[in-house]
Amino acid sequence: MIKRDYYEILGVDRNAPDADIKKAYRQMALKYHPDRNPEPDAEEKFKEASEAYEVLSDSQRRQIYDAYGHQGLQGSGFHGFTDLDDIFGSMGSIFEEFFGGMGGFGQGSSRTWARTGRDMHYDLSISFMEAALGTEKEISVAREVRCDTCSGTGEKPGTGRKNCGTCGGAGQITQRQGFFILQTTCPQCRGEGSRIESPCEECRGRGRVRKSSTINVKVPAGIEAGTQLVLRGQGEGGERGGPAGDLYVFIGVAPHEFFSRRGDDLVCEIAVSFPQAALGARIRVPGLEEEIEIEIPPGSETGDELRIKSKGLPDVRRHKHRGDQIVRLSVKTPKKLTKRQRELIEQLMNEE
Ligand SMILES: [Zn+2]
Ligand SMILES: [Zn+2]
Repeated sequence: MIKRDYYEILGVDRNAPDADIKKAYRQMALKYHPDRNPEPDAEEKFKEASEAYEVLSDSQRRQIYDAYGHQGLQGSGFHGFTDLDDIFGSMGSIFEEFFGGMGGFGQGSSRTWARTGRDMHYDLSISFMEAALGTEKEISVAREVRCDTCSGTGEKPGTGRKNCGTCGGAGQITQRQGFFILQTTCPQCRGEGSRIESPCEECRGRGRVRKSSTINVKVPAGIEAGTQLVLRGQGEGGERGGPAGDLYVFIGVAPHEFFSRRGDDLVCEIAVSFPQAALGARIRVPGLEEEIEIEIPPGSETGDELRIKSKGLPDVRRHKHRGDQIVRLSVKTPKKLTKRQRELIEQLMNEE
């Protein structure tokens, strides 16, 4: 993959002052922060902008980049970020400044960062009728939720945090490599500068515990197979008091023995006798809620479709609107005939 130019990523001039670079990154971080932007490529853009900022906001790295480009940075030991945790770990304080303690960052002391919990997925199978008429289902999910004993901090009640011995509380480690002085995130405390003094016994310092819980899912009438319902805040619990992730419920619909759907139209097939098809008749057909009487016009054939207005499936998006019910006719030819029936059909044949 070709790496894009850092100045181009942030949309700034090559000789832009530090303040402009920070301003540009702030705008991108607000726009693409994965907690705020659900677009699939937001995370990638956020990572890209964060890396660009990490380099251009550091005068030494910027000098190397200006002179030798991406390769020069690699030669100096800079590798960008591996994942989001890495970004939040090493750049937490800037987000605190940008977001002012909202969006899951910087709650509590300046060196403990809250993180949003993971999203979860659940496959829910329902019957055709439940999908058509709507239903409510109780589902059971095992998820990581906030530990009540320590309120998610991971600290044993009554205890606190102590400075990290490896970095002395700075969160960063400064190393000399040849001519360069490099600052890296402290691997011991992942940039937080402090460590839990004594971990909570309930969650062993994780701040979260695994728990099975029952969630009520409201399935709207007319839902189609393959739809996903998003239950905000019902995913895994956040870390350090951060907000919970979302629960995505994927809907599967079992086929029905009599009905099928075509968009919002409800389709069924009805067998009629040859005299009914030839002469026309009034018959009753099953509907979504109740039986419906329909008129079969004289001269009907197999494959003819009769449309019953607004008796199909509700439109999930446009409430009050319903599709139609479509009745496909199938004309039955009798296999066994009584003597009398045979005589009548023979008469009919002679007529023709
Ligand atoms: Zn705990
Ligand atoms: Zn440390």
